[in-house]
Amino acid sequence: MPNDPIPAAIARLRGEFVCAATEIGFLHAQSRTILRDLRRALTLCSLFYMMFSVTDILALGLPGAIPSLLARSTVPMLAWVGVRHAWRAPAPVTAAYRVASAFTLLGMLTYMIVAWRRPADTLLHGTSVGLMAVVVLIFIPNRLRTAVAIALGASLVFIALSWHQHLESTRHLVSMTMLILFANAFGAVAANRHARLWREQYRTQQVLTNLSVRDPLTGCYNRRHLNAALLDGEIARARRYRLSLSLIMCDLDGFKAINDTYGHHAGDELLRSFAHLLQTMTRESVDTVVRYGGEEFLIILPETRLDGATELAERVRTAFAALRVDCGDAALATTASFGVVGADFAVSQAITPQSLIAVADELMYEAKRGGRNQVRARQVEPGIARVA
Ligand code: GH3
Ligand code: MG
Ligand code: MG
Repeated sequence: MPNDPIPAAIARLRGEFVCAATEIGFLHAQSRTILRDLRRALTLCSLFYMMFSVTDILALGLPGAIPSLLARSTVPMLAWVGVRHAWRAPAPVTAAYRVASAFTLLGMLTYMIVAWRRPADTLLHGTSVGLMAVVVLIFIPNRLRTAVAIALGASLVFIALSWHQHLESTRHLVSMTMLILFANAFGAVAANRHARLWREQYRTQQVLTNLSVRDPLTGCYNRRHLNAALLDGEIARARRYRLSLSLIMCDLDGFKAINDTYGHHAGDELLRSFAHLLQTMTRESVDTVVRYGGEEFLIILPETRLDGATELAERVRTAFAALRVDCGDAALATTASFGVVGADFAVSQAITPQSLIAVADELMYEAKRGGRNQVRARQVEPGIARVA
Protein backbone atom coordinates (compact mmCIF):
# COMPACT_ATOMS: atom_id res chain seq x y z
CA MET A 1 0.00 0.00 0.00
CA PRO A 2 1.44 3.40 -0.92
CA ASN A 3 2.76 5.67 1.81
CA ASP A 4 2.20 8.93 -0.09
CA PRO A 5 -1.17 10.70 -0.27
CA ILE A 6 -2.66 10.79 -3.78
CA PRO A 7 -2.03 13.78 -6.06
CA ALA A 8 -5.52 14.97 -6.88
CA ALA A 9 -5.85 17.98 -9.20
CA ILE A 10 -8.87 17.75 -11.52
CA ALA A 11 -8.59 19.00 -15.12
CA ARG A 12 -11.38 21.58 -15.60
CA LEU A 13 -12.30 20.76 -19.20
CA ARG A 14 -11.76 17.02 -19.27
CA GLY A 15 -13.37 16.54 -15.84
CA GLU A 16 -10.74 13.87 -14.99
CA PHE A 17 -7.87 13.68 -12.51
CA VAL A 18 -4.75 15.21 -14.05
CA CYS A 19 -2.64 12.34 -12.72
CA ALA A 20 -3.34 9.22 -14.80
CA ALA A 21 -2.66 6.86 -11.86
CA THR A 22 -5.17 8.73 -9.66
CA GLU A 23 -7.78 8.60 -12.44
CA ILE A 24 -7.23 4.85 -12.84
CA GLY A 25 -7.55 4.40 -9.05
CA PHE A 26 -10.77 6.43 -9.02
CA LEU A 27 -12.31 4.46 -11.90
CA HIS A 28 -11.26 1.20 -10.30
CA ALA A 29 -12.91 2.22 -7.01
CA GLN A 30 -16.10 3.21 -8.89
CA SER A 31 -16.21 0.25 -11.27
CA ARG A 32 -19.34 -1.37 -9.77
CA THR A 33 -21.25 1.93 -9.90
CA ILE A 34 -20.17 2.48 -13.51
CA LEU A 35 -21.24 -1.04 -14.52
CA ARG A 36 -24.62 -0.68 -12.81
CA ASP A 37 -25.19 2.73 -14.42
CA LEU A 38 -24.28 1.29 -17.81
CA ARG A 39 -26.73 -1.61 -17.46
CA ARG A 40 -29.57 0.67 -16.34
CA ALA A 41 -28.92 3.31 -19.01
CA LEU A 42 -28.58 0.84 -21.89
CA THR A 43 -31.70 -1.08 -20.85
CA LEU A 44 -33.81 2.10 -20.67
CA CYS A 45 -32.41 3.48 -23.94
CA SER A 46 -33.01 0.20 -25.78
CA LEU A 47 -36.57 0.03 -24.47
CA PHE A 48 -37.48 3.53 -25.60
CA TYR A 49 -35.63 3.16 -28.88
CA MET A 50 -37.65 0.04 -29.70
CA MET A 51 -40.94 1.60 -28.54
CA PHE A 52 -40.49 4.21 -31.24
CA SER A 53 -40.65 1.45 -33.88
CA VAL A 54 -44.41 2.08 -33.76
CA THR A 55 -43.81 5.49 -35.33
CA ASP A 56 -41.83 3.87 -38.17
CA ILE A 57 -44.73 1.52 -38.90
CA LEU A 58 -47.29 4.35 -38.69
CA ALA A 59 -45.22 6.51 -41.04
CA LEU A 60 -44.01 3.90 -43.54
CA GLY A 61 -46.40 0.96 -43.12
CA LEU A 62 -45.25 -2.60 -43.68
CA PRO A 63 -43.04 -3.78 -45.33
CA GLY A 64 -41.75 -0.18 -45.89
CA ALA A 65 -40.70 0.16 -42.24
CA ILE A 66 -38.63 -3.03 -42.22
CA PRO A 67 -35.20 -1.43 -42.95
CA SER A 68 -35.79 1.08 -40.12
CA LEU A 69 -36.94 -1.68 -37.75
CA LEU A 70 -33.90 -3.80 -38.58
CA ALA A 71 -31.61 -0.81 -38.00
CA ARG A 72 -33.31 -0.12 -34.66
CA SER A 73 -33.14 -3.71 -33.43
CA THR A 74 -29.32 -3.83 -33.63
CA VAL A 75 -29.23 -1.40 -30.68
CA PRO A 76 -30.79 -3.63 -27.94
CA MET A 77 -28.82 -6.61 -29.24
CA LEU A 78 -25.56 -4.72 -28.85
CA ALA A 79 -26.67 -3.49 -25.39
CA TRP A 80 -27.29 -7.05 -24.18
CA VAL A 81 -24.00 -8.44 -25.50
CA GLY A 82 -22.04 -5.36 -24.38
CA VAL A 83 -23.30 -5.28 -20.78
CA ARG A 84 -22.59 -9.01 -20.33
CA HIS A 85 -19.08 -8.50 -21.75
CA ALA A 86 -18.33 -5.50 -19.46
CA TRP A 87 -19.38 -7.36 -16.28
CA ARG A 88 -17.06 -10.25 -17.12
CA ALA A 89 -14.08 -8.28 -18.49
CA PRO A 90 -10.80 -8.20 -16.51
CA ALA A 91 -10.69 -4.39 -16.94
CA PRO A 92 -14.42 -3.64 -16.47
CA VAL A 93 -14.33 0.17 -16.72
CA THR A 94 -12.35 0.15 -19.97
CA ALA A 95 -14.78 -2.46 -21.32
CA ALA A 96 -17.82 -0.47 -20.08
CA TYR A 97 -16.57 2.69 -21.80
CA ARG A 98 -15.94 0.80 -25.05
CA VAL A 99 -19.45 -0.67 -24.90
CA ALA A 100 -20.90 2.79 -24.17
CA SER A 101 -19.06 4.24 -27.19
CA ALA A 102 -20.16 1.43 -29.51
CA PHE A 103 -23.75 1.63 -28.26
CA THR A 104 -24.11 5.41 -28.56
CA LEU A 105 -22.36 5.46 -31.92
CA LEU A 106 -24.63 2.72 -33.26
CA GLY A 107 -27.73 4.35 -31.75
CA MET A 108 -26.95 7.69 -33.34
CA LEU A 109 -25.96 6.16 -36.72
CA THR A 110 -29.03 3.93 -37.00
CA TYR A 111 -31.16 6.94 -36.13
CA MET A 112 -29.66 8.70 -39.15
CA ILE A 113 -31.10 5.83 -41.23
CA VAL A 114 -34.51 6.30 -39.58
CA ALA A 115 -34.36 10.07 -40.24
CA TRP A 116 -33.25 9.55 -43.81
CA ARG A 117 -36.10 7.06 -44.45
CA ARG A 118 -38.70 9.43 -42.92
CA PRO A 119 -37.74 12.88 -44.22
CA ALA A 120 -41.24 14.26 -43.66
CA ASP A 121 -40.68 14.26 -39.86
CA THR A 122 -37.48 16.33 -39.83
CA LEU A 123 -38.52 18.57 -36.93
CA LEU A 124 -39.54 15.63 -34.74
CA HIS A 125 -36.25 13.91 -35.55
CA GLY A 126 -34.47 17.11 -34.57
CA THR A 127 -36.11 16.98 -31.12
CA SER A 128 -35.09 13.34 -30.79
CA VAL A 129 -31.49 14.03 -31.81
CA GLY A 130 -31.28 16.82 -29.18
CA LEU A 131 -32.65 14.48 -26.49
CA MET A 132 -30.36 11.66 -27.59
CA ALA A 133 -27.36 13.98 -27.34
CA VAL A 134 -28.34 14.77 -23.72
CA VAL A 135 -28.70 11.04 -22.96
CA VAL A 136 -25.28 10.29 -24.53
CA LEU A 137 -23.65 13.09 -22.56
CA ILE A 138 -25.32 12.66 -19.17
CA PHE A 139 -26.87 9.23 -18.65
CA ILE A 140 -24.59 6.73 -20.37
CA PRO A 141 -21.31 6.43 -18.45
CA ASN A 142 -18.36 7.21 -20.72
CA ARG A 143 -15.31 9.47 -20.91
CA LEU A 144 -16.57 13.01 -21.32
CA ARG A 145 -14.47 13.75 -24.39
CA THR A 146 -15.69 10.59 -26.17
CA ALA A 147 -19.32 11.36 -25.33
CA VAL A 148 -18.95 14.93 -26.63
CA ALA A 149 -17.37 13.69 -29.88
CA ILE A 150 -20.19 11.18 -30.48
CA ALA A 151 -23.11 13.45 -29.49
CA LEU A 152 -21.85 16.51 -31.35
CA GLY A 153 -20.60 14.53 -34.36
CA ALA A 154 -23.96 12.78 -34.86
CA SER A 155 -25.87 16.04 -34.27
CA LEU A 156 -23.84 17.81 -36.96
CA VAL A 157 -24.40 14.95 -39.43
CA PHE A 158 -28.15 15.15 -38.80
CA ILE A 159 -28.18 18.96 -39.15
CA ALA A 160 -26.27 18.69 -42.43
CA LEU A 161 -28.71 16.03 -43.69
CA SER A 162 -31.73 18.17 -42.79
CA TRP A 163 -30.35 21.25 -44.51
CA HIS A 164 -29.43 19.15 -47.52
CA GLN A 165 -32.99 17.77 -47.80
CA HIS A 166 -34.46 21.20 -46.90
CA LEU A 167 -38.04 19.91 -46.57
CA GLU A 168 -38.88 22.44 -43.83
CA SER A 169 -38.88 26.23 -43.98
CA THR A 170 -35.52 27.92 -43.36
CA ARG A 171 -36.99 29.51 -40.20
CA HIS A 172 -37.86 26.05 -38.78
CA LEU A 173 -34.50 24.57 -39.75
CA VAL A 174 -32.65 27.44 -38.02
CA SER A 175 -34.71 26.92 -34.84
CA MET A 176 -34.12 23.17 -34.93
CA THR A 177 -30.36 23.62 -35.46
CA MET A 178 -30.20 26.03 -32.52
CA LEU A 179 -32.15 23.61 -30.30
CA ILE A 180 -29.83 20.70 -31.11
CA LEU A 181 -26.71 22.78 -30.47
CA PHE A 182 -28.28 24.07 -27.23
CA ALA A 183 -28.92 20.48 -26.06
CA ASN A 184 -25.29 19.55 -26.84
CA ALA A 185 -23.82 22.58 -25.07
CA PHE A 186 -25.89 22.23 -21.90
CA GLY A 187 -25.50 18.46 -21.83
CA ALA A 188 -21.71 18.82 -22.03
CA VAL A 189 -21.65 21.45 -19.26
CA ALA A 190 -23.84 19.30 -16.99
CA ALA A 191 -21.73 16.18 -17.69
CA ASN A 192 -18.54 18.10 -16.96
CA ARG A 193 -19.96 19.37 -13.68
CA HIS A 194 -21.07 15.87 -12.68
CA ALA A 195 -17.64 14.41 -13.53
CA ARG A 196 -15.86 17.03 -11.43
CA LEU A 197 -18.24 16.80 -8.46
CA TRP A 198 -17.92 13.02 -8.44
CA ARG A 199 -14.13 13.27 -8.31
CA GLU A 200 -14.18 16.02 -5.69
CA GLN A 201 -16.31 13.80 -3.47
CA TYR A 202 -13.90 10.89 -3.98
CA ARG A 203 -10.96 13.18 -3.20
CA THR A 204 -12.58 14.32 0.06
CA GLN A 205 -13.17 10.70 1.02
CA GLN A 206 -9.52 9.89 0.33
CA VAL A 207 -8.34 12.82 2.46
CA LEU A 208 -10.57 11.73 5.37
CA THR A 209 -9.45 8.13 5.03
CA ASN A 210 -5.82 9.26 5.00
CA LEU A 211 -6.34 11.39 8.08
CA SER A 212 -7.85 8.50 9.99
CA VAL A 213 -5.13 5.98 9.09
CA ARG A 214 -1.96 8.08 9.16
CA ASP A 215 0.21 9.47 11.91
CA PRO A 216 0.28 13.30 11.55
CA LEU A 217 3.92 13.73 12.62
CA THR A 218 5.58 11.25 10.25
CA GLY A 219 2.93 10.51 7.59
CA CYS A 220 3.33 6.76 8.25
CA TYR A 221 0.31 4.52 8.81
CA ASN A 222 -0.93 4.37 12.41
CA ARG A 223 -1.71 1.39 14.68
CA ARG A 224 -5.45 1.68 14.10
CA HIS A 225 -4.94 0.78 10.45
CA LEU A 226 -2.37 -1.93 11.13
CA ASN A 227 -4.45 -4.87 12.30
CA ALA A 228 -7.72 -4.10 10.58
CA ALA A 229 -6.56 -3.45 7.04
CA LEU A 230 -2.87 -4.08 6.57
CA LEU A 231 -1.47 -7.00 8.43
CA ASP A 232 -4.62 -9.11 8.26
CA GLY A 233 -4.95 -8.23 4.57
CA GLU A 234 -1.35 -9.02 3.72
CA ILE A 235 -1.33 -12.18 5.83
CA ALA A 236 -4.53 -13.36 4.15
CA ARG A 237 -3.00 -12.73 0.73
CA ALA A 238 0.26 -14.48 1.64
CA ARG A 239 -1.74 -17.42 3.00
CA ARG A 240 -3.96 -17.62 -0.08
CA TYR A 241 -1.08 -17.60 -2.57
CA ARG A 242 1.44 -19.36 -0.26
CA LEU A 243 3.90 -16.47 -0.37
CA SER A 244 6.71 -15.25 1.85
CA LEU A 245 6.27 -12.19 4.05
CA SER A 246 8.67 -10.39 6.39
CA LEU A 247 8.33 -7.78 9.11
CA ILE A 248 10.93 -5.38 10.47
CA MET A 249 10.44 -3.84 13.89
CA CYS A 250 12.81 -0.94 14.59
CA ASP A 251 13.34 1.47 17.46
CA LEU A 252 15.59 4.51 17.79
CA ASP A 253 18.46 4.12 20.26
CA GLY A 254 18.89 6.58 23.11
CA PHE A 255 16.04 8.73 21.87
CA LYS A 256 15.04 9.94 25.33
CA ALA A 257 18.50 11.49 25.73
CA ILE A 258 18.01 13.42 22.44
CA ASN A 259 14.72 14.82 23.75
CA ASP A 260 16.25 15.64 27.11
CA THR A 261 19.32 17.34 25.59
CA TYR A 262 17.91 19.17 22.55
CA GLY A 263 14.20 19.39 23.33
CA HIS A 264 11.07 17.71 22.05
CA HIS A 265 11.07 19.67 18.81
CA ALA A 266 14.52 18.31 17.90
CA GLY A 267 13.29 14.80 18.75
CA ASP A 268 10.35 15.30 16.39
CA GLU A 269 12.72 16.34 13.58
CA LEU A 270 14.78 13.20 14.04
CA LEU A 271 11.65 11.04 14.07
CA ARG A 272 10.48 12.62 10.83
CA SER A 273 13.88 12.04 9.20
CA PHE A 274 13.91 8.40 10.26
CA ALA A 275 10.37 7.88 8.93
CA HIS A 276 11.32 9.57 5.66
CA LEU A 277 14.31 7.27 5.34
CA LEU A 278 12.10 4.21 5.89
CA GLN A 279 9.58 5.39 3.33
CA THR A 280 12.14 6.18 0.66
CA MET A 281 14.15 2.98 1.14
CA THR A 282 11.10 0.67 0.93
CA ARG A 283 9.13 -0.19 -2.22
CA GLU A 284 6.44 2.33 -3.05
CA SER A 285 2.91 0.86 -3.27
CA VAL A 286 4.17 -2.53 -2.01
CA ASP A 287 5.77 -2.16 1.44
CA THR A 288 4.04 -0.41 4.32
CA VAL A 289 5.64 1.64 7.09
CA VAL A 290 3.66 1.90 10.33
CA ARG A 291 4.47 4.08 13.34
CA TYR A 292 3.99 1.36 15.93
CA GLY A 293 4.73 3.43 19.04
CA GLY A 294 6.59 6.62 20.04
CA GLU A 295 9.93 5.97 18.29
CA GLU A 296 9.15 2.45 17.17
CA PHE A 297 8.27 1.58 13.56
CA LEU A 298 7.03 -1.59 11.87
CA ILE A 299 7.67 -2.32 8.20
CA ILE A 300 5.54 -4.89 6.37
CA LEU A 301 7.31 -6.45 3.40
CA PRO A 302 4.98 -8.62 1.27
CA GLU A 303 6.52 -11.32 -0.95
CA THR A 304 9.88 -10.84 0.76
CA ARG A 305 12.07 -13.61 2.17
CA LEU A 306 14.06 -13.25 5.37
CA ASP A 307 17.42 -12.67 3.61
CA GLY A 308 15.99 -9.77 1.55
CA ALA A 309 14.36 -8.19 4.61
CA THR A 310 17.57 -8.54 6.66
CA GLU A 311 19.56 -6.92 3.88
CA LEU A 312 17.10 -4.01 3.80
CA ALA A 313 17.28 -3.59 7.60
CA GLU A 314 21.10 -3.53 7.36
CA ARG A 315 20.96 -0.84 4.67
CA VAL A 316 18.55 1.29 6.71
CA ARG A 317 20.67 0.81 9.84
CA THR A 318 23.84 1.98 8.02
CA ALA A 319 22.11 4.92 6.34
CA PHE A 320 20.53 6.12 9.58
CA ALA A 321 23.75 5.80 11.56
CA ALA A 322 25.41 8.08 8.99
CA LEU A 323 22.54 10.60 8.94
CA ARG A 324 22.97 14.04 10.50
CA VAL A 325 19.82 16.13 11.00
CA ASP A 326 20.37 19.89 11.27
CA CYS A 327 18.34 21.40 14.07
CA GLY A 328 19.36 24.97 14.89
CA ASP A 329 23.02 24.92 15.97
CA ALA A 330 23.05 21.17 16.61
CA ALA A 331 23.51 18.26 14.20
CA LEU A 332 21.41 15.44 15.62
CA ALA A 333 22.45 11.83 15.15
CA THR A 334 21.64 8.48 16.66
CA THR A 335 21.27 4.85 15.66
CA ALA A 336 18.43 2.32 15.56
CA SER A 337 18.00 -1.35 16.47
CA PHE A 338 16.15 -3.82 14.24
CA GLY A 339 14.28 -7.12 14.65
CA VAL A 340 13.49 -8.95 11.40
CA VAL A 341 11.11 -11.89 11.12
CA GLY A 342 10.44 -13.91 7.98
CA ALA A 343 7.48 -16.23 7.37
CA ASP A 344 6.93 -18.68 4.54
CA PHE A 345 3.23 -19.45 4.07
CA ALA A 346 4.03 -22.31 1.72
CA VAL A 347 5.37 -24.11 4.82
CA SER A 348 2.98 -22.93 7.51
CA GLN A 349 -0.53 -21.65 6.89
CA ALA A 350 -1.40 -20.96 10.53
CA ILE A 351 0.98 -18.07 11.28
CA THR A 352 -0.86 -15.14 12.87
CA PRO A 353 -0.07 -11.40 12.69
CA GLN A 354 0.25 -11.24 16.48
CA SER A 355 2.84 -14.03 16.56
CA LEU A 356 4.91 -12.35 13.84
CA ILE A 357 4.89 -8.97 15.61
CA ALA A 358 5.78 -10.63 18.92
CA VAL A 359 8.83 -12.33 17.36
CA ALA A 360 9.95 -9.12 15.59
CA ASP A 361 9.62 -7.22 18.89
CA GLU A 362 11.55 -9.88 20.77
CA LEU A 363 14.37 -9.78 18.18
CA MET A 364 14.48 -5.98 18.34
CA TYR A 365 14.97 -6.14 22.12
CA GLU A 366 17.66 -8.77 21.59
CA ALA A 367 19.44 -6.23 19.36
CA LYS A 368 19.11 -3.64 22.16
CA ARG A 369 20.54 -6.01 24.70
CA GLY A 370 23.33 -6.91 22.29
CA GLY A 371 24.57 -3.30 22.33
CA ARG A 372 22.08 -1.45 20.02
CA ASN A 373 22.68 -0.31 16.39
CA GLN A 374 22.29 -3.90 15.18
CA VAL A 375 19.99 -6.20 13.23
CA ARG A 376 18.67 -9.52 14.60
CA ALA A 377 16.77 -11.84 12.26
CA ARG A 378 14.91 -15.13 12.46
CA GLN A 379 12.70 -17.29 10.27
CA VAL A 380 9.45 -18.08 12.05
CA GLU A 381 9.02 -21.78 12.84
CA PRO A 382 5.80 -23.53 11.69
CA GLY A 383 4.90 -24.35 15.33
CA ILE A 384 5.06 -20.76 16.56
CA ALA A 385 1.61 -19.81 15.38
CA ARG A 386 0.02 -22.32 17.73
CA VAL A 387 2.00 -20.96 20.69
CA ALA A 388 1.02 -17.31 20.06
P1 GH3 B 1 16.41 2.70 23.89
O1 GH3 B 1 17.72 2.85 23.21
O2 GH3 B 1 16.42 1.61 24.91
O3 GH3 B 1 15.30 2.53 22.92
O4 GH3 B 1 16.18 4.04 24.68
P2 GH3 B 1 15.25 5.22 24.30
O5 GH3 B 1 15.67 6.43 25.05
O6 GH3 B 1 15.19 5.38 22.82
O7 GH3 B 1 13.82 4.70 24.73
P3 GH3 B 1 12.87 5.15 25.89
O8 GH3 B 1 11.71 4.19 25.79
O9 GH3 B 1 13.57 5.26 27.20
O10 GH3 B 1 12.37 6.58 25.46
C1 GH3 B 1 11.60 6.83 24.35
C2 GH3 B 1 11.33 8.29 24.31
O11 GH3 B 1 10.64 8.67 23.12
C3 GH3 B 1 10.47 8.76 25.45
C4 GH3 B 1 9.38 9.59 24.82
O12 GH3 B 1 9.22 10.84 25.46
C5 GH3 B 1 9.90 9.83 23.41
N1 GH3 B 1 8.84 10.04 22.44
C6 GH3 B 1 7.78 9.23 22.18
N2 GH3 B 1 7.03 9.79 21.20
C7 GH3 B 1 7.61 10.94 20.84
C8 GH3 B 1 7.30 11.98 19.88
O13 GH3 B 1 6.32 11.92 19.16
N3 GH3 B 1 8.15 13.02 19.80
C9 GH3 B 1 9.24 13.12 20.58
N4 GH3 B 1 10.04 14.18 20.44
N5 GH3 B 1 9.55 12.19 21.50
C10 GH3 B 1 8.76 11.12 21.64
MG1 MG C 1 14.20 3.76 21.73
MG1 MG D 1 10.76 2.49 22.20
